[in-house]
Amino acid sequence: MSEHPTRADFDHYMVPNYAPQQVIPVHGEGSRLWDQQGREYIDFAGGIAVNGLGHCHPVLVEALTTQANKLWHLSNVYTNEPALKLARSLVERTFADKVYLCSSGGEANEAALKLARRWAHDHHGEHKHRIVSFSQSFHGRTFFTVSVGGQPKYSQGFGPVPEGIVHGQYNNLDSVRELIDDDTCAVMVEPMQGEGGIIPAVPEFLQGLRELCDEHNALLIFDEVQTGVGRTGSLYAYQQFGVTPDILTSAKSLGGGFPVGAMLTTDRVAPAMAVGTHGSTYGGNPLASAVALAAVEYIDTPEVLDGVKLRHDQCREHLEAINHRHSVFREIRGMGLLVGAEMAPDYEGRAKDLMALALEEGVMTLIAGPNVLRLAPSLVIPEEDLIKGMRRLEHAVTRLVADE
Ligand SMILES: *Cc1c(COP(=O)(O)O)cnc(C)c1O
Repeated sequence: MSEHPTRADFDHYMVPNYAPQQVIPVHGEGSRLWDQQGREYIDFAGGIAVNGLGHCHPVLVEALTTQANKLWHLSNVYTNEPALKLARSLVERTFADKVYLCSSGGEANEAALKLARRWAHDHHGEHKHRIVSFSQSFHGRTFFTVSVGGQPKYSQGFGPVPEGIVHGQYNNLDSVRELIDDDTCAVMVEPMQGEGGIIPAVPEFLQGLRELCDEHNALLIFDEVQTGVGRTGSLYAYQQFGVTPDILTSAKSLGGGFPVGAMLTTDRVAPAMAVGTHGSTYGGNPLASAVALAAVEYIDTPEVLDGVKLRHDQCREHLEAINHRHSVFREIRGMGLLVGAEMAPDYEGRAKDLMALALEEGVMTLIAGPNVLRLAPSLVIPEEDLIKGMRRLEHAVTRLVADE
């Protein structure tokens, strides 16, 4: 291999499950990234809502390097100080009494689903195993989580899926009334669908799910892997909806770029995850926990969270101004710094083209399905970078329009 790997090496050496862009970023600072050729990009993608504090934030670098010089890994044969501090911090800041730590969102959801089934099994019996989730939802790529997720393309072709999983329509309580019964052990829902197209829940929908779960003795699981840790302007989105789940999952921004996940639950439910029922070699790893603790403590402050709300308004104003001039979007929506711009009918299915043009113009964006451009910038993106990125995005929009 030559000294500098190239994009062609991806096709040579990597399993072809991804189709990455041609550019290879090599260095990042705050909301800017530079590729192998030294070209600068404004980052509105944030590693898919992971880099909550941008790249190489000094607070996270300090937490990581300090811990790196102390202790990396022990396994769960021993506990460790960073994991205990992280768990305590999450409990103090949320509805939760107990925390399970792991390394990704999919693992956090896998734990949540297994806990719900085990809890129902122990308290009510084998029959209570049905899980209700929603079309277009996304909960991860393990086999259980793709089965619960509402995008069949991710679960088909791998043999028989786990039994007892049904899907209702998001924001449609009647569809849930038809599916839920006393054999339901859990309802799993994202307070705002991320991968499904940046679709916020209607508050009455989440309140209604809470009531239906209570009526049928089922557990309400909020998947806050994408919406959590400041992304929507509160530490977790549930705090804005005024609806408290029984289980909440967190990952992505939780580690700000270091792989970590957490499942939060209550004293009523947690005992079902007794010694030996579940586990992970890396769960609660000291390095991951130290970084996550620093991220949570830095983000869960009025300065950062108010800043997210301010930046949400700025993002929206910029996108609306772009749309006013070019009429490419049908709707601009979202919460906090998880913002979606749905393409107008004339540009149906062209979010990906816009994302590619934006990259050429020097701004990294995301899509959420074929029709929604998604932005998930750093929660602390400087206004200067926001303006610069929006200017570049407008250049991309101009080119998309000219192409028609
Ligand atoms: C990204 C995501 C996941 C999966 O997280 P991984 O860390 O990729 O396993 C699960 N749920 C939601 C809502 C997500 O956005």
